[in-house]
Amino acid sequence: VEVVRTVAAFTGRLAAARLEGRDPGLVPTMGALHAGHRSLIEAAAAAHGHVAVSIFVNPLQFDHQGDLARYPRDLGADLEVCAAAGVSTVFAPSVEEMYPCPPRTTVHVAQVGEPFEGQVRPGHFDGVATVVAKLFSAAGACTAYFGEKDFQQLAVVRRMVSDLSMPVQVVACPIVRAPDGLALSSRNALLSDEDRQAATVLWRALDAGRRAVADGEVRPDRVAGAMADVVRSEPRASLDYAAAVDASDLSTPASLADTASVRLLVAARLGLVRLIDNCDARAMAGSRDGCNGAAALLVHGQEGR
Ligand code: AMP
Repeated sequence: VEVVRTVAAFTGRLAAARLEGRDPGLVPTMGALHAGHRSLIEAAAAAHGHVAVSIFVNPLQFDHQGDLARYPRDLGADLEVCAAAGVSTVFAPSVEEMYPCPPRTTVHVAQVGEPFEGQVRPGHFDGVATVVAKLFSAAGACTAYFGEKDFQQLAVVRRMVSDLSMPVQVVACPIVRAPDGLALSSRNALLSDEDRQAATVLWRALDAGRRAVADGEVRPDRVAGAMADVVRSEPRASLDYAAAVDASDLSTPASLADTASVRLLVAARLGLVRLIDNCDARAMAGSRDGCNGAAALLVHGQEGR
């Protein structure tokens, strides 16, 4: 794996791959790579002769300095994961390389980026959209792999690519979970043992939402209420939001009955750690199908790396 530190070198590597007929697949990350990231890399490797992984903890998307300072970083371990997965290029720029001066040009994706994470974390999606736009601009034409774990982020990126005619194809990959249902996340490493146990409440809330939908509930607020009740039953967790939304634009429909694809979203804090999760509302309750994709993606006996 070749590590490049500058935008120019990254652009050059992907241009060279294209000239050699190796169509690039790009996996944007903030590092602290775990099996969720690995599933994206594997999906990219299955379809592309050149896989590039970017590792950049983007200060622009953090609304709390404490969260940015605490965010786990381990480039050495990340490079081992990338090398083992057959990644060709790792783009690991410094903050100064990405932002030589504070940007006066930023990207705001209206509507889809405004509720939920956009509301709880003001400026978050402007930071995400801006850094992803910069990455895409540096990478050139490519296929980019994103996880459904960050479902609203995926919708924001898709909308930006379409609105700005970016030459990038976006591929969504299913959520990888620990055996007890917790979605893998770099932030899980920051949980105390007690909070790690309690964190399964997000998965249990999604399950309660799916059960409500399976039982015929079509009122989004009632489904959200069933999910919120589960989160509130866990004293260590504090609920940010629970919702049942139209998966296409994250709007709240009058009735779930008329909505082709319904997504359940949940966000909660455990101590200082904020976790988000989501699943297809019509995936079978109690199962991982549609919440996890292929069972083969399950991590057996280990979390993280
Ligand atoms: P992050 O490093 O947290 O910014 O995530 C980088 C990419 O990995 C994003 O597209 C995430 O949605 C994706 N990702 C993170 N965790 C998971 C997971 N548990 N399953 C699938 N994709 C994930």
